[in-house]
Amino acid sequence: MIAARMYSPAASDQELRRQVRDFIQQNRDGAAEPDLGIGGAHDPGFSAALAERGWVGMALPRDYGGSDRGAVERWIVVEELLAAGAPVGAHWLADRQTGPLIARFGPEELRKRFLPEIAAGRCWFAAGMSEPDVGSDLASVRTSARRVDGGWLVTGTKVWTSGAHRSHYMVTLCRTDPAVNDRHAGLSQLIVDLSSSGVTVRPIPFMDGSHHFNEVTLIDVFVPGDLLIGEEGQGWAQVTSELVSERGGPDRYMSVFQLLMLAVRHAPDALSSRAPEFGAIMSRFTTLRRMSYSIAAMIDAGENPAPFVPMVKDLGTVFEQEAVSFLRDVSGEPQRMDHFTDDFQRLLTKATLNSPAFTVRGGTTQILRGMIARGLR
Ligand SMILES: Cc1cc2nc3c(=O)[nH]c(=O)nc-3n(C[C@H](O)[C@H](O)[C@H](O)COP(=O)(O)OP(=O)(O)OC[C@H]3O[C@@H](n4cnc5c(N)ncnc54)[C@H](O)[C@@H]3O)c2cc1C
Repeated sequence: MIAARMYSPAASDQELRRQVRDFIQQNRDGAAEPDLGIGGAHDPGFSAALAERGWVGMALPRDYGGSDRGAVERWIVVEELLAAGAPVGAHWLADRQTGPLIARFGPEELRKRFLPEIAAGRCWFAAGMSEPDVGSDLASVRTSARRVDGGWLVTGTKVWTSGAHRSHYMVTLCRTDPAVNDRHAGLSQLIVDLSSSGVTVRPIPFMDGSHHFNEVTLIDVFVPGDLLIGEEGQGWAQVTSELVSERGGPDRYMSVFQLLMLAVRHAPDALSSRAPEFGAIMSRFTTLRRMSYSIAAMIDAGENPAPFVPMVKDLGTVFEQEAVSFLRDVSGEPQRMDHFTDDFQRLLTKATLNSPAFTVRGGTTQILRGMIARGLR
């Protein structure tokens, strides 16, 4: 069980961490500013170099271009990339979700076609789950796919689609059988080529002004029949397995790591003045790392981590928000303002604007807590 797999780093883990840190230093613009660990910045060159090193699709089977290195080693690499605020946005979703999804559910043709491209860091995916009025209750998706000669015609609207404006494809959860009574039946996942005729991608500006997510409208978009992931009608089971990949990793507690480190490095006296609160934050951070590591270790051991995954997402994202709120509070004390650098203040502003999204993206706190409660039955 989760408590039995506490993280005790092996020497090989430390060596892998050192290699990733060296890589980031060599492959990143030396003047890169500290950033949030939210996988945001899009840098195809960085993604390609990372892939060349074997660190994209690293848990995918070697036969399909991956490195077969397992979930724990991937966890280490991802933690280091997020700790550095590295520009991993281009390949992020394909590496975290789409690759494992296709590897698990197939079919073989899709594995052969997409996994080597994903592992090379040059095939980028968006996740088309949410729709207007359909986020938490995903089983209510209305986007429809109608059988036609040679494939499907897909019509509907997806919202909050991160990175769709830069992605090649979108994994689209849609209703392929409108007739069934069970809401969880009749759903399928199709790969939509975002350059297809009938696709419109419009930006939804984020509140800090950046362009992160989009509204994607699909009107009679033709999707060839061989772009069905897994089985027709099994979309619900498949998408819930995809959400396991999305929720339990370091991206749920590393978003504000650089902000915390800037404060530790440059304003230790200010933090000491609020030691009990800061200590509590860091003890939560340490516990979360161990929980997330345990999930990766369970995957490598062939165990099912699903009941524990929403715990990491819930505890991790609430921790991130409370860390931002604490740092805003300390750095705003008039007698301590000078202790905090310009880099810190800039990043704090970005974290403040982003932090409401931490507990929404990938499933809201309320939904995750419902899952945790049901998982205990
Ligand atoms: C930064 C960011 C990136 C995102 N990227 C993507 C993406 O790439 N692809 C994608 O498909 N989606 C994406 N999303 C959308 C995200 O998954 C949804 O916003 C989220 O699932 C919530 O859905 P909703 O916005 O429709 O809110 P709603 O489902 O309408 O929820 C509104 C409120 O009601 C509460 N609520 C709803 N149902 C229940 C219930 N049964 N019990 C208790 N409370 C409930 C919720 O907790 C929430 O507080 C992204 C969101 C963010 C913020």
